[in-house]
Amino acid sequence: MSVFLAIDLGAGSGRVIAGVTDLNTLSLEEIHRFDNPGTDLPGGSYWNILGLFRDILEGLRRGVEKYGKDIRAIGIDTWAVDFGLLDEHGRLLGMPHQYRDPRHEGMPELMHALLPESEIYARTGITTNFYNTSLHLMAEKKLGSPALAAADRLLFIPDLLAYWLSGVMAVERTNASTSQLVDPATGEWSLETIEALGLPAKIFDKIVPPGTILGPIRKEVAREIGMEGIPVVAGATHDTAAAVAGIPMEGEDALWLSSGTWSIMGLETREPIRTQEAFAARCCNELGVEGTVRFLKNIAGLWLIQECKRQWTLDGEAISYGEMAKLAEAAPAFSAFIDPDDPIFAAPGDMPEKIRAWCERSGQAVPIDKGTILRVASESLALKYRVVFENFCKLSGKRFTRLHAGGGGIQNAFLAQATADALGIEVIAGPIEATSCGNIVVQMIATGNLPDLAAGRALIRRSFDFQVYQARNGDQWQQAYDRFKSVIGG
Ligand code: ADP
Repeated sequence: MSVFLAIDLGAGSGRVIAGVTDLNTLSLEEIHRFDNPGTDLPGGSYWNILGLFRDILEGLRRGVEKYGKDIRAIGIDTWAVDFGLLDEHGRLLGMPHQYRDPRHEGMPELMHALLPESEIYARTGITTNFYNTSLHLMAEKKLGSPALAAADRLLFIPDLLAYWLSGVMAVERTNASTSQLVDPATGEWSLETIEALGLPAKIFDKIVPPGTILGPIRKEVAREIGMEGIPVVAGATHDTAAAVAGIPMEGEDALWLSSGTWSIMGLETREPIRTQEAFAARCCNELGVEGTVRFLKNIAGLWLIQECKRQWTLDGEAISYGEMAKLAEAAPAFSAFIDPDDPIFAAPGDMPEKIRAWCERSGQAVPIDKGTILRVASESLALKYRVVFENFCKLSGKRFTRLHAGGGGIQNAFLAQATADALGIEVIAGPIEATSCGNIVVQMIATGNLPDLAAGRALIRRSFDFQVYQARNGDQWQQAYDRFKSVIGG
């Protein structure tokens, strides 16, 4: 038996998961779960990075207690874009900011005055979004940040935590590629972009590929967790890259969907797509495992459903996801549509009311009961996936016949079926824990326990349950799609 410890940090909570495998099948066990609350302070929104590190140590300690000598490696994945700055002695210069820190405000205008967005896209394959590392570094520069002036190195969050575990500094590629400062064709820093933006080139150190063994845990870490010598792997350190690695796609005609609080849909390709059309569709080129490009689009996701649940709980009408799916199923089809990506829906707060108001403003039937609200949200989400799906077909010149979906959102069987129906293709749902699966198979490859990603995906296929949804009612969904586009103005 071999055990691989996956540290998976999200922007709200973190987990340490043990992947237990005899190399033929894989099972997962959550051994520690903890909150990751960001904190707003005068001067910014910050991550409690040391608190996170302490929780990681606690998770590793529990892992060692249970699995001891069977542990083969440790790997970290986290949300993207956020970073720490370090001085020449490897000391962290201040607490890392959260990507939603308002310091990004006004920065797109400043950045695009130096380099137009289309030019940045041509170089980095990434559109400008409020969270990109590029904008946050521009803000530090504008503010005359002493940390930036003193910085010798930039490490992204998983790089920083891996450095604290292993003592080895390295910037891992999948995560670096989200920064809007990397050339996706070479996988290296786009130094001409960095220079044009007036950022200090010296902080952008060597980038390593996913699956690089950094070294064994430091002896101080070994003392804390009760075991020495465990290798730390820089795996697919961006959680979406890990999720894509963990979704067992086969063939050229498959798309992937990472379905959680947010939905990210994309294709796995060898070359970036940086055409004007791709830019206009606001698709991004992030990097994946084994030299792949994740050509993707962020779409609003289960956030809408999650926020409805939260509101009804606040109103004293608590309801489970299972009950919500049943109500949606029983409600009338296609009574109204919303644009799930309307910024109105992005902020927290009374989601059922926002959905009602959107329908009213657009002159449609206003959904009153829970089931109809949920049905409007779910069908609209599935139809928005279709808009993105059609863009992918156009931009890549390919015909996709399957969508492989992974993540917690695939437990919503109503949405999964609606997705198959809206896209008119088969949806294969699984695994729920795609991110941890990907984290673990990249560790297994790095440590010589698997030959490659194809073998890793085969292992995942053998180990988990998958649900297959076939497209139904093509004509009805085509009519709904035409109506949806006219309502959202597409
Ligand atoms: P995150 O992206 O935050 O990691 P997850 O992958 O855990 O999110 O997915 C969370 C979403 O999955 C929730 O918003 C919810 O809509 C959906 N979900 C979770 N459990 C269930 C369930 N039992 N039935 C239906 N949907 C579920």
